[in-house]
Amino acid sequence: MNEKIYDLIIIGGGPAGITAGIYALRQRMKTLMITKDFGGQINRKAIKMENFPEFPEISGQELIEKLVSHLKKYPIEIELNEVIKVEKEKEHFRVKTKNKKEFFSKTVIVASGADPRSLGVKGEKEFLGKGVSYCAVCDGPLFKDKIVAVIGGGNSGFESAIFLGEYAKKIYILELSNQVRADQENQKRAQKTGKVEIILNAKVEEIKGEKFVKSLVYKDLVSQQLKEISVDGVFVEIGNVPSTSFVKDLVEFNEKGEIVVEFETMATKTPGLFAAGDCNAGKYKQIITACGEGAKAALSAYDYLQKLKS
Ligand SMILES: Cc1cc2nc3c(=O)[nH]c(=O)nc-3n(C[C@H](O)[C@H](O)[C@H](O)COP(=O)(O)OP(=O)(O)OC[C@H]3O[C@@H](n4cnc5c(N)ncnc54)[C@H](O)[C@@H]3O)c2cc1C
Repeated sequence: MNEKIYDLIIIGGGPAGITAGIYALRQRMKTLMITKDFGGQINRKAIKMENFPEFPEISGQELIEKLVSHLKKYPIEIELNEVIKVEKEKEHFRVKTKNKKEFFSKTVIVASGADPRSLGVKGEKEFLGKGVSYCAVCDGPLFKDKIVAVIGGGNSGFESAIFLGEYAKKIYILELSNQVRADQENQKRAQKTGKVEIILNAKVEEIKGEKFVKSLVYKDLVSQQLKEISVDGVFVEIGNVPSTSFVKDLVEFNEKGEIVVEFETMATKTPGLFAAGDCNAGKYKQIITACGEGAKAALSAYDYLQKLKS
């Protein structure tokens, strides 16, 4: 085989993948990172981050810039692309990308995190980019003086509402259950905008519009009645789904589709394949935990290579 064989391919350029890259390059591993973007979910962070050590307050963009510039101090090769399949061949992995390229390596770290969960209702796909969004921080400024709905009453939903408070004139937060799940601090900040109205027991049924979104239909789960509110935008914040389908033949999944790993080393059931960050079955999904797991996965990949050599 004439193709170049890397020591390591890292899939994903979020906190887990970037940290794995820094650790791998410090071990002088020949490393390729294949990623759709840099920063991953941090790009969706609507208000400043307050729980990353050293930075009591830092915006998502600032943190990404710092992580990426640290990574690029080292000679990492980068392919901006989407991985669609990882295969294990005799002594190496074959990684296939959407643009029909193939890359080879002795080890792989999957750090592909998670994508936003969709509602699965009528109008959601049709109005994507025409009022429907999964990223308040990306699209919020387009809704100046408009009425918007945020679907989901967890921290992400409330943080989006706080951010949207800078632009929109009114923000509904629709929550499926009978109470919101956001922490007290986020609830207080959202109320302080003076623009937020919370609707509990609300199951979204349809997003309606013509060229752009015009209204939202939900079922009131107490009265069982359908209700319609006029909105210009709908921000969906109902959690995530792991981005892991491209390794389905090589790993074991839990019931959520997250990769089962051995947490001491981040190893999967396939020798040489590791999984770090939100794509695995770890309980706490945070930037700092993703970074820690990225570091562990890279050091484990290095140990694995050393054992192969000896
Ligand atoms: C709105 C919001 C607010 C948050 N707030 C905080 C907070 O305040 N503090 C905190 O600690 N955490 C917060 N989190 C959680 C935190 O962002 C995640 O835990 C963390 O980003 C996980 O890092 P990761 O590297 O595992 O995955 P991700 O950040 O999801 O990164 C995954 C990377 O993989 C890439 N990728 C995915 N699939 C493929 C593929 N097939 N091919 C190539 N590349 C691929 C993506 O493009 C991305 O670069 C928040 C999350 C959200 C959504």
